[in-house]
Amino acid sequence: MRLVVDLNRCQGYAQCAFLAPDVFAMHGEESLLYNPQAAAEQRQNVERAVAACPVGAILLELTDEDMAHLPAPDAVAGSGARPGGTR
Ligand code: SF4
Repeated sequence: MRLVVDLNRCQGYAQCAFLAPDVFAMHGEESLLYNPQAAAEQRQNVERAVAACPVGAILLELTDEDMAHLPAPDAVAGSGARPGGTR
């Protein structure tokens, strides 16, 4: 997956570093370091960080590899979508 953090918007609240410590880390009081190409296995933690960021500074783009890690459609309650399905 690809990540971009709008560092002009980021206020250093560190919610992302708490929820996805393998991807985000605080450097000092307010400086954020992050891996812009986090591994697909980190997707759930990164999505939690995106949701928790109080200023919406984290933008996430899923790649084909990330889509391959999505749960099977039958495992997604109420979903009519079939991501990556063959037809
Ligand atoms: S949660 Fe948002 S505001 Fe806080 S450090 Fe992370 S990106 Fe910045």
